Amino acid sequence: MSRDTFAETEPPTDCYGLLTDHRIKGRIIRFMSKTSRRVVFGVLLIVTLVVSTGGALGYLGRLTLVFDRHPGKPLAIIEEVPGPPDGPKCAIDARYFDEKPEGLRPEVLQAWSKLRQKASEQGVTLCLNDGKRSRGQQRAEFDEAVEKFGTEELASKYVLNPPDRSMHVIGFAVDIQPIESAQWVEKNGNTLGWCRRYENEQWHFEYNADYPEAGCPALIPSATGS
Ligand SMILES: [Zn+2]
Repeated sequence: MSRDTFAETEPPTDCYGLLTDHRIKGRIIRFMSKTSRRVVFGVLLIVTLVVSTGGALGYLGRLTLVFDRHPGKPLAIIEEVPGPPDGPKCAIDARYFDEKPEGLRPEVLQAWSKLRQKASEQGVTLCLNDGKRSRGQQRAEFDEAVEKFGTEELASKYVLNPPDRSMHVIGFAVDIQPIESAQWVEKNGNTLGWCRRYENEQWHFEYNADYPEAGCPALIPSATGS
């Protein structure tokens, strides 16, 4: 049968209307498989594009924008959130700052406000000499220490490196000054979740929701373990 006559001929079927001609079946199968290959290829292409775009955005730290329910307010990666580099001078001791408690975790910020309130009710002023730091800010402090002390080894005795180990970077720590105010916190902060942690940092306090029940853990020599 030539191509032309085939075009004008009804395909042969059996009494149920099923195709009986093997050549026609073959054509249909070839057509189907070509179509399904295209469909499969198209789906794969779309999946690849979606995954790689998501991956690239995730790599840039912007993946959250895609799923963000509040446009313009990307969900924060806590380690990347900076705190104020400094602030107004502490009202009772100008050697220190009293920076805004920006960048802290919401529960930590709330606990900080309660602590400050309680102190002020007892006539004690707490100055936030340093609170939140980003990874970059912590890294900059380390670099400064390297310059000051000469080697990375010496610097890491005083400033935590890698930065992610710092409780300031993950938003749980505050440095309170002057020392008399820090001493008040050491005595009275526990019930509000604040504890001093290091022997060598009288000013450094960390918040933990378990501290009121569990009490403050024993002091450890230093944050850097040296
Ligand atoms: Zn600290």
